[in-house]
Amino acid sequence: MTIGILGGGQLGYMLALAGYPLGLRFRFLDPSPEAPVGRIAHRVTAEFTDDQALEKFAHGLEVATYEFENVPVQTARFLAERVPVYPAPAALEEAQDRRREKRLFQRLGIPTTDFAEISEREEFDAALKQVGLPSVLKTCRLGYDGKGQWLMRTAEDVDRARAELPSVPLILEKLVAFSRELSILGVRSRTGETVFYPLVENHHRGGILRLSLAPAPQIAPGLQQTAEEATRRILEELDYAGVICLELFQVGEKLLANEIAPRVHNSGHWSIEGAATSQFENHLRAILGMPLGSTATVGYSAMVNLIGELPEAAEVLRTPNTHLHLYGKSPRPGRKLGHVTVRADKFEKLQQRLAELPAFFQRPEYFLRQALAETLANRA
Ligand code: AMP
Repeated sequence: MTIGILGGGQLGYMLALAGYPLGLRFRFLDPSPEAPVGRIAHRVTAEFTDDQALEKFAHGLEVATYEFENVPVQTARFLAERVPVYPAPAALEEAQDRRREKRLFQRLGIPTTDFAEISEREEFDAALKQVGLPSVLKTCRLGYDGKGQWLMRTAEDVDRARAELPSVPLILEKLVAFSRELSILGVRSRTGETVFYPLVENHHRGGILRLSLAPAPQIAPGLQQTAEEATRRILEELDYAGVICLELFQVGEKLLANEIAPRVHNSGHWSIEGAATSQFENHLRAILGMPLGSTATVGYSAMVNLIGELPEAAEVLRTPNTHLHLYGKSPRPGRKLGHVTVRADKFEKLQQRLAELPAFFQRPEYFLRQALAETLANRA
């Protein structure tokens, strides 16, 4: 059985690695001749809009999926006329536009951040008046890892954002004074079977995920269930198959939905070693309509992203209960090159292991100490 995957980055790489023990084969399509999956699977190098290449790519596939959420919806539709595509292109479309996402949350009664839509440039001032400061201006499409966002706290920030005002549509969102960021991964199989991973605590810097703690420490009773219910409503509304990630802000004991990702997610990488079944394997099971695997955790995990530069592999491998994942990408500032997952039986032990990571991770740009201090403050 060959699975077709649109996008050939690290998410695709880890999907293939999870699928090989199940006897699956993979074929990727990515515009870049340097896409990491080229090292481990058949890679077609072509634009997502190249119908001829897509036609060939689709030939003989069991099912197709994506690991990159900005695949043109048209590409997913073209493919869906030839092979089953999961999640369905309509779900991809919902997640690609922040306005549609917000409307989805509202339709399903899922609390989200206050916002105003800006469909014409002239609506900027009215939106600002409605939402107020501090707020974040976001492009509705193609934003990721903090790109396409303008944080506005002061009148000068507003002037700068107005001067740089990117093309509409945009949304203006109230800046939330959250106590922490959480995410939950849900998996729904083609058969309708649904499972959830525990809430994960995420630490971002400059809009990029740096650290995930799984399960999120100190989750008040009911919070996991609230997150699962919200995710379940989304999965059912979209008649979804595959892994979805719902990103949330915790404010007091409330959860506000920020956004969804219609794919496996960086905040689920810990599940490779930290759960009975990884998000990657469960995504494959789901899109094939096979029984889903247990999401039970194996102790506590911390996932640290390796961004822009890499540590000495030997140094990391010398550290007990620490797993190194390298994606085979050439280093570039701000680029996700790999991750490390540290595991322990107890949260206290996990903290200790993080503090004992090699000097590379203890530098200020890794924010580990600061992130753990924030976590402990939350626990107090
Ligand atoms: P996003 O691309 O929407 O996930 O935003 C990236 C990161 O920016 C989030 O993970 C938050 O750390 C921060 N952020 C985005 N929107 C807001 C908001 N409305 N209030 C506070 N922080 C935000």
